[in-house]
Order: sequence, then C-alpha cells, then structure tokens
Amino acid sequence: MTERKLRLEPSAFAVEIAQEMTEAERGYGLPCCVRHAHAGGQCKRAASMRVYELAFCEVHGEEARIGALSELYDDAATTIERVDNPHAPLENAEAGHLLSSVVEMLNERCIELGQSEDEALLRAYPVISERVCTETQAYDYDVVNEAPYPEDVHMNVRRELHGLMRRAYEKGLIATLETLEEDREEASAQVAFALDDRERKTRSRPTLVR
Ligand SMILES: [Zn+2]
Repeated sequence: MTERKLRLEPSAFAVEIAQEMTEAERGYGLPCCVRHAHAGGQCKRAASMRVYELAFCEVHGEEARIGALSELYDDAATTIERVDNPHAPLENAEAGHLLSSVVEMLNERCIELGQSEDEALLRAYPVISERVCTETQAYDYDVVNEAPYPEDVHMNVRRELHGLMRRAYEKGLIATLETLEEDREEASAQVAFALDDRERKTRSRPTLVR
C-alpha cells in the first residue's frame, strides 16, 4: 500500500480572512483603505479585495493578503508545536506523526507565501526618501555587529500587528482593525524602505552573508 502525503485544504477562516470582492461589491466603487503618509497618503485606486474585512486595491491587498496568511499559518504551526512537546511525548506514534506532518505543511505554506512577500511589499510601498526611518538610513552593512537588519525589526512589528488584527477580526472589532491597519501600513512601508535601502547599499557586493 502506498502512503499518500497528508493534504489539507485551507480552512474556511483562511479563505474568509483574505478574499477577492464579488463583481457586485466592486460595483460600489469603494476606495482602498490605505492612507498612511508612508504610503503617500490616501490610495486612489478602487478596492478589489478584502483582508480582515477591510477594503484594499489589488496592489495593497496582495501585500496585506500575504502578511495575513503568513501570520495565520505561522501562528497555527506554533500552536500545534506546543501540543507536540518533546518533554511530554504523545503516547501514540501515529498522532505524533500527524502533528509533525501538519506543522510541516503549515511551514511549507509560509515558505511559499514568503517567496513573493518582498516583491509585494516593494510594489505596495514605493520608497519615499524623506519617510525612511533614521535607523534604516544610518545602518551600515559593512559594520559587523549584532544589530538585526532594519527590515527584520520592522517585519517583526508588522507580524505582531497582523496577529492583533486577526484577533480583532475574529471578535468583529472593525474600529480597532482600522486603527491597527494604519500602524500596519507604517510598519509595512518601513520594511519595504529597508529592503530597498539594503539592496542599494549592498548592490556592488558579490554576496552578503547574514
Ligand atoms: Zn491601495
């Protein structure tokens, strides 16, 4: 008997959290919700998708979709890993195998989403020089130090905000979502600015070892 690889369809929640608008919804001509100054102010494009129930244009929506699903799958993997504790192993090898398979599958989804995340961020938040944070501007990639890259610092903030937004979405706190979204836009823009900054400062290098 051949063993089939475990395959799970995304949950209804994962589908619902980021989805394309229907033709009827697009007909309302809702504006994209992105409005932070780091994004160049209010986005003028029409909304075509919803992430956490907020309306986004295609470009900003794709960036928010990747961030939302990455956080959801990453957090799901961490939650399941807590059950699969090496200090208190499950007394059923098959159950342990299934848990490991699910964690592996969730991690694969995160890797897949991560492959287009930088590009989506750079498309959604073109660099506005005067808005690049001073830490990013001052970061010298030639100095060997312990400080994390600016993109990682801002990415962690963005990830935490996605977690808070997921919880607010689950509880139907729309006003809270709108407030958090503005902070998320700031963090996402700073990730994009830092990615661009590193690319420019290290362009002439053959390889940059992290
Ligand atoms: Zn937009």
